[in-house]
Amino acid sequence: MNVTDKKMQAYLEAHPFLQETAELQLAMSAAIQKSVGPMEFPEDNEVKKLTQDGVPLLQSKDLQDRVVAALQPQISAVLAELLPIACPQPMQEALQVWAEWTEKQSMDKQAELIGLLLRQEDEKLTALMQAEQLPEQLVRTVLWQLVEALVPARLKAYDFWQDAGWAKNYCPICGRQPVLAHLRKEKEGRARFLLCDGCHAEWPFARVGCVYCGNEDLTQMHILEPEGQTAMRMDVCGKCQSYIKTYNEEGTESVYLQDWATIHLDLLAEEKGLRKNGSRLLAN
Ligand SMILES: [Zn+2]
Ligand SMILES: [Zn+2]
Repeated sequence: MNVTDKKMQAYLEAHPFLQETAELQLAMSAAIQKSVGPMEFPEDNEVKKLTQDGVPLLQSKDLQDRVVAALQPQISAVLAELLPIACPQPMQEALQVWAEWTEKQSMDKQAELIGLLLRQEDEKLTALMQAEQLPEQLVRTVLWQLVEALVPARLKAYDFWQDAGWAKNYCPICGRQPVLAHLRKEKEGRARFLLCDGCHAEWPFARVGCVYCGNEDLTQMHILEPEGQTAMRMDVCGKCQSYIKTYNEEGTESVYLQDWATIHLDLLAEEKGLRKNGSRLLAN
């Protein structure tokens, strides 16, 4: 997605309250892509072999070390790109705090932070950020955006994972829970795919049931279709009170497969006491 995306422009004209969020998101991803590009990953067959037993790619020690080594030296440059972006005061201050911390920290400490994020050792990660007085949500969201920028597009594609036979309820690349779902038209009817908010990979999953708790009792599943919304609905699980926003059309992926583009649906779900999962802002 980029600023010139016509579908996104049309969507924002129809949803003007998202304009500010959109500008910030677009500016951040442009700044990040300036500093970090795709890293060399193993060949396709090797990737399939590495993940065949259900272990996400970035949970292998070797790749994890390489991602840390690729990211750690870039953090200062990324923060320097992010600092001039027009953003709310608290975010500006949080960026400043992180930039100052990065300047005076040892490489080891910075590597430790990225390692904990990749391994999703959430308690340790939170403890480290509290001890260092780092702004946790900002650090999490920017680091995941960096991971997203490192992963080559071919490995984020749903058909790659369809072919590899990955059908877990966690991301084949980073291991996070999904944040969004997409019902695609396939030859034999509609098939469901899940999207990761960490690295933005997409992979196939069972068509029905709760993607978070595994509930398959359909009497406990229901669909919320907010008024005026046809492209995006919410699949709600009565057992674990989670929901997943599900895009059920084709052609507007550049809009609807961005979690922030339907943040108003999350607010609606929150009012109903439902739980959101998989957001890169949060522990997994
Ligand atoms: Zn992922
Ligand atoms: Zn559930």
